Amino acid sequence: MFSIFDIFSVGIGPSSSHTVGPMRAAKRFTESLVQKQLLNQVVTIECELFGSLGSTGVGHGTGTAVILGLMGQLPETFDPDNTEPFIQQVEQEQQLRLADTHDIAFLPSKAITYHQHKTLPGHANAMQIKAKAQDDVVLLSEIYYSIGGGFILRDDELNQVQSQQPDQSLPYAFHSFEQLKHQCQQHQLNISELITKNEAYFAKEENVAHACHDIWQVMRKSVERGLKAQGELPGGLNIKRRAPALHLKLSLNQMSDPLDVMDWVNLFALAASEENAAGGRVVTAPTNGAAGVIPAVLCYFNKFISPIDEEKAQTFFATAAAIASLYKRNASISGAEVGCQGEVGVACSMAAGALTAMMGGNLAQIENAAEIGMEHHLGMTCDPVGGLVQIPCIERNAMGAIKAINASRMALKADYEPKVSLDKVIQTMMETGKDMQNKYKETSKGGLAIYITQC
Ligand code: SF4
Repeated sequence: MFSIFDIFSVGIGPSSSHTVGPMRAAKRFTESLVQKQLLNQVVTIECELFGSLGSTGVGHGTGTAVILGLMGQLPETFDPDNTEPFIQQVEQEQQLRLADTHDIAFLPSKAITYHQHKTLPGHANAMQIKAKAQDDVVLLSEIYYSIGGGFILRDDELNQVQSQQPDQSLPYAFHSFEQLKHQCQQHQLNISELITKNEAYFAKEENVAHACHDIWQVMRKSVERGLKAQGELPGGLNIKRRAPALHLKLSLNQMSDPLDVMDWVNLFALAASEENAAGGRVVTAPTNGAAGVIPAVLCYFNKFISPIDEEKAQTFFATAAAIASLYKRNASISGAEVGCQGEVGVACSMAAGALTAMMGGNLAQIENAAEIGMEHHLGMTCDPVGGLVQIPCIERNAMGAIKAINASRMALKADYEPKVSLDKVIQTMMETGKDMQNKYKETSKGGLAIYITQC
């Protein structure tokens, strides 16, 4: 079970599994060194990246994230404007201040290895960090898995988590939508109320509504920055940011076209996704690659339906977190494990269900919207061109946001009994992900990733 504030965490782009997770892992490794009183003996650090972290880590900024984490930085507090100066300093001085206290020699090109064909058994996103003393003596070696959405597990924790049952000390434990529905009906609560009561157990935030509104504010700001930021995205694909010019066009437009609203939704998604691609501050929702879908749906609601206050933010984020928890527990939100259906597909499903809740939909309508949101992403592969979170990711967020709004509208107007439950579509997504060839799971070895670079 996950807190709303685990699912929606503030981080930096471009990837939750390849940037946020590795940064947290590297920081955690330094904490182990401190705890074991080994820090002062460290002479060198080596980090090996396996699986998808190895094959697309360069484009996703994984090496940068590892360096920042080793320096003691965390994605939620680090100012992304400082990334370049920090990294430049390390490269120029060939030195790194470990855990912000202990200087060691560090040459990124030697210290970080991107394995193109090696994997570790626990997960498609794996990394091993070693700290060495004089004479190459290994002081500490730890393996971490970045399991999607910025969540990390050390290898000894992975097996424990896989066999864990839902925590019965939670006020309202559930591990399927069917159980969640049953709990809501039995206790006469809606999903948002039930999840809010569960938040007391996690004790992450005292005022849940206020904290949810804060998340919305971070998302809104990421969209606003994306609307203004000019120029090209980093990484070498020479992709021009599209949001500022589109914003200008739409702002001058008198809303004469019946589909103008759709253009605005696209704009909001492009703005947030371009900010993510540029390594800016975004909210993981449920991943960074998919961090444009939910802000776009919320900006749409805020502009065209009703301003988002604390109550609405709570309804939205609590409902979306309940849906995300089910994907995370019963399937995956990692593109390296199940393809993009687990990232943009899950974001669409969360947004569709949560928008339906904000629109006053009942339990059945929320479930139906979330199910439609995923049903039409089943089988969607992950093939980022150049290993960057840009093509197809940025436009894909816009498509996901539009689908979410459409799914919600279909569910709210439905006068039929849906044939497919949310639990079934989650199970289908996982099975489809298992059947998907590895080259379509965030390796940049298949699909658009190979055809575009050949052009
Ligand atoms: S294609 Fe989808 S899953 Fe893959 S990096 Fe892009 S957004 Fe993430």
